[in-house]
Amino acid sequence: RQSMKDCNEFVAAFEKVIKKPKRQESKIYYTGIDLGTACVVLAVLDENRKPVAGAYRYADVVRDGMVVDYIGAVELVRELKEELEQTLKTELVYAAASLPPGTDELDGGAIKNVVQSAGFELTNLLDEPTAANQLLNITDGAVVDIGGGTTGISIVENGHVVKVADEATGGTHLSLVIAGAYKFPFEAAETYKRNGKNHEELLPTLKPVIEKISSIIIQQTQGYNVEGIYLVGGTACLKNIETIIEKATGIPTYKPTNPMFVTPLGIAISC
Ligand code: ATP
Repeated sequence: RQSMKDCNEFVAAFEKVIKKPKRQESKIYYTGIDLGTACVVLAVLDENRKPVAGAYRYADVVRDGMVVDYIGAVELVRELKEELEQTLKTELVYAAASLPPGTDELDGGAIKNVVQSAGFELTNLLDEPTAANQLLNITDGAVVDIGGGTTGISIVENGHVVKVADEATGGTHLSLVIAGAYKFPFEAAETYKRNGKNHEELLPTLKPVIEKISSIIIQQTQGYNVEGIYLVGGTACLKNIETIIEKATGIPTYKPTNPMFVTPLGIAISC
């Protein structure tokens, strides 16, 4: 599919500029801020909406989509902003941010305040799977964003989002299962899980949680004619997670080469 190929190329370009930022002149920069449960990502696009720089850090400032450490979140976003500004030798002014679907009434204000207190002008606030679809460009199907704390689902029909949902199961739960099974502290379990070399060995242990995620997808897509599931979010990096989800849901399941940065880039595109 062309849109998946475009998405993969866009993410690959972003991965390159995370390592080696592009220092070129641009009249305006757009920053996407993904304030996640496990990871905070900033993605910067230039005036042509092409990736020029990016930075991310694992942090514990948000839980299940809620800002639990407000000061820590502001400091972290400000730190990443300053780091990117020094690299690009410019001031980053405009930013968009996202939040898990359905949490806007509860926490939209907090996310907005974090972004503004860090020195940005907030231009857009949208839900995570809808942001991801700015890059995927799915006209029919379900975008499933499996992050750290939650799984967000956005159902798209004829190019329109017809339903969004979010439930509290994600990568953190997988790490907790690894911590229990391997008698690792949580942080060690996280690191072990993120290493692709361990994925094959881990998959049987993680299967029950992935099946739980699949049952959430089945429940939330009931009553809709979903012909394809498109996985994004850091947890979708787990090798063969798509095979288990496809088998459990009976719906063809696809994922980009690197699902981790699709949402932050989609947020930046919507800035
Ligand atoms: P949420 O969307 O729930 O607020 P988030 O935005 O922090 O969370 P992401 O940044 O999309 O979520 O993903 C973070 C999760 O992805 C963490 O649980 C992390 O352990 C997991 N993760 C990151 N890289 C990998 C990898 N290579 N393999 C397996 N899991 C990974």
